[in-house]
Amino acid sequence: MKLEQALPRIIAIDGPAASGKSSVGQRLAAHLRYLYFDTGAMYRAVAFLAWERGILPYDEPGLSELARTTRIDVVPSAPGDPRPYVVQVEGRDITEGLRLPEVEAIVSPVSAHPGVRAALTAQQRRIGLAGQVVMVGRDIGTVVLPEADFKLYLDASLEERARRRYAEYRTRGQRVTFEEILASMRERDRIDSTRETAPLRQAPDAVYVDTTALSLDEVFEHILHLITTRARNRINPKT
Ligand code: C5P
Repeated sequence: MKLEQALPRIIAIDGPAASGKSSVGQRLAAHLRYLYFDTGAMYRAVAFLAWERGILPYDEPGLSELARTTRIDVVPSAPGDPRPYVVQVEGRDITEGLRLPEVEAIVSPVSAHPGVRAALTAQQRRIGLAGQVVMVGRDIGTVVLPEADFKLYLDASLEERARRRYAEYRTRGQRVTFEEILASMRERDRIDSTRETAPLRQAPDAVYVDTTALSLDEVFEHILHLITTRARNRINPKT
């Protein structure tokens, strides 16, 4: 068996906001030539459309209907486009809208509704089962793709994650204070990990990596090492 054939087909990465999931997931997908799929973009798309249409975050029937009936496409961006992916709804590119503070403020309560999750989970599962995919989110290893053959749970301290998000906002020229980011991240963590349906949780068979004191390069090298070591062990099982 060649090394490529022994690599995991489905890689699931979960963890809280700014734990490094997206950066590491993108890098890993590019390295392995796999599809990078960010499930948070789908929840953000539903939150963005709800905000635009005046559907309130506690309107479970309205939000579930929206998630069930709207086709959300998360597609790799065209060559030369620096964005890792583009989100389209009925031919309209809504990617920029997904990071608006208005969306950030409601995405966790919107995502907590079982009807919203059922609609999006079904689509994510279909994409994931096709294989050659790095899928990132909160419930990929536990609910969306429990059969994933490599599961990772990335974590970092709340303060470090808020620092990372603050730096991103500053780079984009958005005016927010560190304290605002810290408070909204703490609240999003709370809602994501205490909701009844598919809470943020480490799968029992996931590898846990604390990225607080690590650079992106260090996290990437560590994970690549884990993946290739496992693949080599599959080819040559230790006796
Ligand atoms: O990963 P990102 O920060 O873009 O996700 C935005 C929000 O979408 C999360 O805070 C969470 O409420 C929700 N989400 C989720 N399940 C996923 C991915 C994201 O509930 N698989």
